[in-house]
Amino acid sequence: MTSAEAVFIVQPAVVCTVSTFVVVGGDAAGMSAASKAKRDDPDLDVVVFEKGEWVSYGACGLPYYIKGEIQSLDDLVSVTPEEFREERDVDLRTGHEVVDVDPESRVVTAQSDDGELRQEYDHLLVATGAEAVTPSIEGMDREGVYTLGSMSDGRDLREYVGRARSDEDLQQPDRGPACQFLETCNGPVGIVGGGYIGVEMAEAIAANGFEVHLFQRGDRILKEFSEATSEAVLDHLRDEDVAVYLGEEVEGLAGGDRVEAVVTGDGRVPVEMVLVGTGVRPRTDLAEDAGIELGETGAIATDAYRETNVPDVYAAGDCAEAEHVVTGEPAHVPLALTANRHGRAVGKTVAGEPTEGGRVAGTAAVKAFEMEAARTGVLDHERAREAGFEPMTETIDAKSRAGYYPEGGTVRVTLTVDRPSGRVLGGSLASEYGEGAVHRSHALVGAVTEGVAVDELSNYDLAYAPPFNTTWDPVLTAAKVADGKR
Ligand SMILES: Cc1cc2nc3c(=O)[nH]c(=O)nc-3n(C[C@H](O)[C@H](O)[C@H](O)COP(=O)(O)OP(=O)(O)OC[C@H]3O[C@@H](n4cnc5c(N)ncnc54)[C@H](O)[C@@H]3O)c2cc1C
Repeated sequence: MTSAEAVFIVQPAVVCTVSTFVVVGGDAAGMSAASKAKRDDPDLDVVVFEKGEWVSYGACGLPYYIKGEIQSLDDLVSVTPEEFREERDVDLRTGHEVVDVDPESRVVTAQSDDGELRQEYDHLLVATGAEAVTPSIEGMDREGVYTLGSMSDGRDLREYVGRARSDEDLQQPDRGPACQFLETCNGPVGIVGGGYIGVEMAEAIAANGFEVHLFQRGDRILKEFSEATSEAVLDHLRDEDVAVYLGEEVEGLAGGDRVEAVVTGDGRVPVEMVLVGTGVRPRTDLAEDAGIELGETGAIATDAYRETNVPDVYAAGDCAEAEHVVTGEPAHVPLALTANRHGRAVGKTVAGEPTEGGRVAGTAAVKAFEMEAARTGVLDHERAREAGFEPMTETIDAKSRAGYYPEGGTVRVTLTVDRPSGRVLGGSLASEYGEGAVHRSHALVGAVTEGVAVDELSNYDLAYAPPFNTTWDPVLTAAKVADGKR
């Protein structure tokens, strides 16, 4: 054999390709995905870009931090950046804003104080969340006008109401921005918007010694809840000396450099500070620029696995849509559990186990001073009709505990039911704080999610003991009453 004829036996090369999972946004959805992906596939490179300084924080706790019940913003953080980096091996880059996604070349571009950085990805999650809506009313840019969407908003608001509250500060000649222009610190405060943030903040601000004026342009507060729940919470807010103005569209926030009054069609209410809580909108600019499709709700459209129209690009949390359990239609429900659940599902999928994050029922809870309320499913008749149902609504008031038990109060339960089939479409509850409206809502979530009929709900084998409820829990009574009225 000549050398030219030599046969070379080539051993197949062992090709080791490490996949990279890039996450944009370092809160509930983003960090759930990053942690889960890394835990399930330790060989995966996981890179998270977060434009702010905080990650994995609980914005839901901000009203209670502002109120003064939670002492430090750090207490709202569930996992610190150091823990993510050192214990979970996630390459977390805070202070990095992703400004471009190029799905063709699978590259994201991030900007930080150190300049621009390009990062390749195999899988990408957009978890950019939602931002507080700033309505186009005159005076939004005046000093003393706040929104509450981020940790830094929370810090500013706490600084304001905390300083105003402190007796020590009241003695100081320079009492800080809250008080410089006032004779006393406890001036009136305006809240624009009667959704859950407006209601929670009414409690937080009033607890700091301010007179609270809450403006709602519609005819009721908490409009996602049932009318009966809204009414119960409204009565309670008024009992707590919150001045609630219903049907009053705020036309402007008047003043000089600083806000001095809320202006409505009916007049002016002097205030020293205003919190605007008129809802949130999904943060979708980055996705849209990358050619990622939005759905009808304005949030990012995804399939059941949270994958967008662009292959290997996912979207989860407040920036994305999810399928509603009752209507089967895409819905935008910007709440914390959905963000955590869907983020975690994306993490599992990327790590090799395709996982659906599950549908949403729009379940929400709120505390208002000494009341609690919860809602789930579809309560609005128009929306139910659009989904092909024939809705009817029944409300009952029942005792929260056995009549002979020394404590207790009233639980108000509203059920919305499809008249022909009896299917439970939605529920809403209110009670005194600690009397179980929120915990009782969990039974309704089960019924709404499983498409259970109201007669079946009335036979649910719920737990009973005198300190917790009556033999027929208020939820069961409501189901019996609604069934009887069909
Ligand atoms: C005051 C308040 C009270 C709330 N109370 C409740 C409650 O009681 N119950 C409940 O269920 N929900 C509540 N929520 C809503 C809940 O906080 C959100 O549903 C949840 O935080 C959504 O998580 P997310 O990860 O989708 O988005 P976010 O928490 O908004 O996080 C998105 C992150 O992405 C970052 N980001 C955005 N764009 C970029 C970019 N281009 N580059 C890098 N980073 C970027 C942002 O800085 C942010 O940190 C409340 C929210 C607020 C503000």
